[in-house]
Amino acid sequence: MADDLLKFVSINQQMPTKRTAGDRKADFDEIYDEFDTEGAKEQASRCSQCGVPFCHIHCPLGNNIPDWLRLTAEGRLEDAYEMASSTNNMPEICGRICPQDRLCEGNCVIEKDFDSVTIGSVEKYIADTAWENGWIKPITPAAERKESIGIIGAGPAGLAAAEELRKDGFQVHIYDRHDRAGGLLVYGIPGFKLEKDVVGRRTGRLEQSGITFHLDYEIGREATLSELREKHDALLIATGVYRARGLKAPGVGLGNIREALDYLTASNKVGFGDSVPEYESGALNAEGKNVVVIGGGDTAMDCVRTAVRQGAKSVKCLYRRDRANMPGSVREVQNAEEEGVEFEWLCGPEAFLGGENVEAVRAYRMRLGAPDATGRQAPEPVPDSTFNIDCDLAILALGFEPEDLPALFGSPELRVTRWGTVTVDHASMMTNLPGVFAAGDIVRGASLVVWAIRDGCDAAENIKSYLTAKQQDAA
Ligand code: FAD
Ligand code: SF4
Ligand code: SF4
Repeated sequence: MADDLLKFVSINQQMPTKRTAGDRKADFDEIYDEFDTEGAKEQASRCSQCGVPFCHIHCPLGNNIPDWLRLTAEGRLEDAYEMASSTNNMPEICGRICPQDRLCEGNCVIEKDFDSVTIGSVEKYIADTAWENGWIKPITPAAERKESIGIIGAGPAGLAAAEELRKDGFQVHIYDRHDRAGGLLVYGIPGFKLEKDVVGRRTGRLEQSGITFHLDYEIGREATLSELREKHDALLIATGVYRARGLKAPGVGLGNIREALDYLTASNKVGFGDSVPEYESGALNAEGKNVVVIGGGDTAMDCVRTAVRQGAKSVKCLYRRDRANMPGSVREVQNAEEEGVEFEWLCGPEAFLGGENVEAVRAYRMRLGAPDATGRQAPEPVPDSTFNIDCDLAILALGFEPEDLPALFGSPELRVTRWGTVTVDHASMMTNLPGVFAAGDIVRGASLVVWAIRDGCDAAENIKSYLTAKQQDAA
């Protein structure tokens, strides 16, 4: 074993410096500073180079983590980037926003009583260094292929597929209904988790690689799915899931009760310097308001922390289970608490009170009862436990479902599941329509960026095989 490794005994886990809560509440910049070279080397050197690396097994991309940690510890950063980027199209993005505590780092088997290796931060450091040093270049395929592929959706699934297809010389066109590429990377996830120029340099590189982006182009409005099929040799549907799960409660139709994604998209657009009338009018701006966010996932965490940064008077998060059972990442809850968010665990909204606009949420306490069909303890209301919380802006963050794609695309023949996700053959990722593939959240349901990247890469492989077989048949 090289001298550069196995240092978990002598070197403690150290994340890059986290800005103070007071400092980070003042802007939408990321909350962690970058490792310096020595810090990254030291942290990488804590890896014990396991024979069976559970970190790698639990990374959805199967990243060769011990290998690029070793290269980092040895100071061979360009090689480390080569290795990291061979399995991940966006290492600096995953390094920032993967829930590492549930994936690679949560499964790092460094000896008991020692903290895991800071895998995500090292991955981010390697890739950011590669960008800074100009090691990341536009793609130049060895040969051009004439077949053209249309990708619907410029989120991580669509972008990953586009990159893999372009590497093989295919003519790639991405269609997105938004005015910027990136999907939820730009309009969902806030800048304090992922600064937008980090996404912009990835999409910019794809453009420089010869991929054509058709923005402000909604399939179903500008063209039907059938029209798009006629233009391309294969299609990939990577449209994500956007229909907000609703809530049934008296008063839910009052003014200033908003969906999480409307709120986050407006905030992200303001961050880009766009004019957003609903923000300017105050309807999607938390400044000076008592804000109540309902939900316990990562979207809810992003909303509460956005409200803090917009200068809300108070920010409360209502979640019907307890802290141990919330779906959001432990790290994000901790960040929110440090920034002044108050959590009401085991608490649900009974009604929204007010005149034209919401003025209060009548909430009730809950307790965890018997396990439900999924094995999780089902929350049940505690009798006579209601209380009111002042509220001028309520944000519903209860999860997302697919839109009605067959109707939206003008393609009733496209087969979907009873949940509205697109049905694919699991081996080929092809839908029931020949040459039309699907990947990402629109197949899995709301998931993670790293899974979208994985699916996009797998779909690209399947599209290549499909087109190659078609070409051979024609020959
Ligand atoms: P998306 O990213 O949703 O991209 C789909 C794209 O398709 C969009 O750009 C959309 O405009 C476009 N589109 C849709 N319909 C059409 C149409 N008809 N025509 C043209 N274009 C269309 N995951 C993490 O791993 N870490 C996190 O910290 C994290 N935070 C999140 C925070 C929020 C607020 C949300 C909502 C999600 C978060 N996620 C996070 C989940 C993650 O963002 C998604 O799993 C991932 O973006 C899915 O990728 P995708 O490419 O399938 O879809
Ligand atoms: Fe960990 Fe995500 Fe990187 Fe995989 S892609 S090593 S899960 S941070
Ligand atoms: Fe290194 Fe931890 Fe992975 Fe083992 S599980 S190879 S110690 S990062």
